[in-house]
Amino acid sequence: MQLQLRHIRRLLSAPALLLAALLLAALLGAVLFGCASYREYTSEFFAMDTVMSIAAYGENAESAASEVERRIYELDALWSIGNPSSDISLLNSGRRDAELNPETDKILREAERVRDMTDGAFDERIFAAAEAWGFYSGEYRVPTQDELRRLISLRDKIDLGAIAKGYASDEAAELLRDAGISSAIINLGGNVYAIGGKPGGGDWTVGVRDPFNLSKNIVTLKLRDRAAVTSGGYERYFEQDGARYHHILDPRTGYPADAGLASVTVVSESGTLADGLSTGLFVLGKERALELWRENRALFDLVLIENDGTVTITEGIKKAGSSGRLTTVAAESIIGIYKNGERIHTAELDAVSEPYDVKAGEGNIVRVAPGEVYMLSADCRDQICVHHAALRRGNGESNRPFDAETPIVCLPNNVVVKWELAP
Ligand code: AMP
Ligand code: MG
Repeated sequence: MQLQLRHIRRLLSAPALLLAALLLAALLGAVLFGCASYREYTSEFFAMDTVMSIAAYGENAESAASEVERRIYELDALWSIGNPSSDISLLNSGRRDAELNPETDKILREAERVRDMTDGAFDERIFAAAEAWGFYSGEYRVPTQDELRRLISLRDKIDLGAIAKGYASDEAAELLRDAGISSAIINLGGNVYAIGGKPGGGDWTVGVRDPFNLSKNIVTLKLRDRAAVTSGGYERYFEQDGARYHHILDPRTGYPADAGLASVTVVSESGTLADGLSTGLFVLGKERALELWRENRALFDLVLIENDGTVTITEGIKKAGSSGRLTTVAAESIIGIYKNGERIHTAELDAVSEPYDVKAGEGNIVRVAPGEVYMLSADCRDQICVHHAALRRGNGESNRPFDAETPIVCLPNNVVVKWELAP
């Protein structure tokens, strides 16, 4: 039961939009874009304790995706904590002299690199502390401070859970590219890797989940030949005596990391780095995460969501539109138009070049213009919202991304226009 619950929670943590898109694509079979037709193959499987999916396009899509699946099962068998004959179980049972698969040596070196980069905030030797909290067995408990202090000083057992899926996504991308696939999207339990663009052209879009409303996305990433990986306390946790304990531990204390972040998303050409860093930077917190980014701008970009709802996006992501490789929507400028509680339209004000109107029921017209949105008309007598309300992009002077924060509310007609990022 515990296991099932855990799986369901992980399923929920995979980007919902992406899964929906994949399901739709699977239903359609071969997808038609304009005149061209693309051979599509989608598969879904369970490995590394999570649901994984691949959608690949092109001649060899099916055989290449099957090869990927086989490869991931292989890696899972090598590194699984639950498999007593895995390389990691051998190491954890004290067999330091055990002959390891070269792949294990390689991922251990990668883990050490991320550990160094993050000053030990990422540490694959966290096993003993994570075990004491019950994160492997599902029998959760709060260890004593003394116990944790002792366990973190040991650092004698390994858990690759914070980096293995990212590594697997790099392997998957390489296998698909070697098979001549130039368009694919891989989702290994929330570790996403986009190969090329969508089959009909355009970048892949991947949602970053709103940590405070898991059914919504807060930022839309547009990806091309990039990995995107999110770490968040909401992904796995238990509650006891009114307190919540999540699965990302601070290796300095053994307690769940508490650096003010609700989630960290790392976008990088390397899935391994993105996975390792998303965990490590969650432990480090915003200031140090941004410091590290400044020193390594070429390697990765970030979406940081703080516990108070503030969203910070690094420059590479904002600029990406012009570079043509890595792109994202400028998340701050997204507005949603709601009618009777349902979102009927989403717009990115920065990307609007010509004004246009959105009808929100009879007589209610919302005008979306470059950098601003307002009610053009409303089907009621006082028309307060029409005369007084508009949402505009900020002038950059305040540290808020927008000037007017208050949503436009047309009460009699149940129309609301609001910033999607307002806390
Ligand atoms: P992720 O979902 O990639 O952030 O990885 C979280 C998982 O990695 C946890 O469930 C633990 O198994 C393990 N872990 C927890 N804290 C750390 C840490 N500080 N460094 C490395 N691995 C960790
Ligand atoms: Mg990770």
